[in-house]
Amino acid sequence: MKKITVVLSVILLFLILCGFWGFFGHQRINRMAVFTLPPGMIGFYKHHIAYITEASINPDKRRFTVVDEAPRHYLDIDHYGDSAFHKVPKYWTPAVALYSEDTLKAYGILPWHINVMYYRLKDAMAVGDPEKIIRISAELGHYIADAHVPLHTTENYNGQLTGQEGIHAFWESRLPELFADHYDFFAGKAQHLANPQLAAWKAIEQSHQFVDSVLCIEKRLSARFGERKFSFETKGKQTVKVYSQEYARAYHEILDGMVEHQMRGAIKMIGDFWYTAWIDAGQPDLDKLIIYKPSEEEIQQRKAELEEWKKNQLQVRDHTE
Ligand SMILES: [Zn+2]
Repeated sequence: MKKITVVLSVILLFLILCGFWGFFGHQRINRMAVFTLPPGMIGFYKHHIAYITEASINPDKRRFTVVDEAPRHYLDIDHYGDSAFHKVPKYWTPAVALYSEDTLKAYGILPWHINVMYYRLKDAMAVGDPEKIIRISAELGHYIADAHVPLHTTENYNGQLTGQEGIHAFWESRLPELFADHYDFFAGKAQHLANPQLAAWKAIEQSHQFVDSVLCIEKRLSARFGERKFSFETKGKQTVKVYSQEYARAYHEILDGMVEHQMRGAIKMIGDFWYTAWIDAGQPDLDKLIIYKPSEEEIQQRKAELEEWKKNQLQVRDHTE
């Protein structure tokens, strides 16, 4: 029993230290994304906003129990060398053909997994399965938020190659926790995406452009601050070493709104993906699903119909191509 408690505390500490947008960031981002939605959607999402907020962190919790989970959260694009964004195929099948599935999984599959989640959400919408719609929406939100963290796009994800260990959680957890109350999260209205797969890539490419700044600025600042870089804070009964508030403030200032910009970008893109799945599924009546939960048989029946329809679509395409 004691052993289990120790293991759990280690996992918890790990989660706190390497929070992956931190629980705080993911929850805030998913929550705000609801407010980008149009009238036909916002009622349903607002009704489930507590779940959508809390479940935003489920994919991170799963990293410790599901073998395939971890690579869904990042893409070490720099592993693929110069002009990687031009070299790596945007779609899964040609990417596997070029690099093999094992290689892709070793260096992260974030953009492709976002696309998989988009299709799952579209199907859940088409079938009218309210539980799946909210669960997949919440988790899709998580992966899109990860795509907006520059350090989720590089092999040097925690500054471990440049002597900056700890910078991952510093950027994505400590900074938002200290400063997000002053951020402007108004992201505008959700818009339809012509190509969700390419949109996921675009977000990652934009995030990746910030990697050098994130690391170089911290390196320079660290040299200037010396010992004052860290301080001790009491969390519950524990005293932990953290990046000092003074250091965090100085870093945040030089980053000049980067964290806020990326959070807002994530909020907007999550709204865009939810909206796109809804439109592409034929704008099902979500308001009806607030008061009416279809039975398991109904859901299975509609699923079978959807699969049948997909099969026919494929055949039609085969004949015309
Ligand atoms: Zn994550």
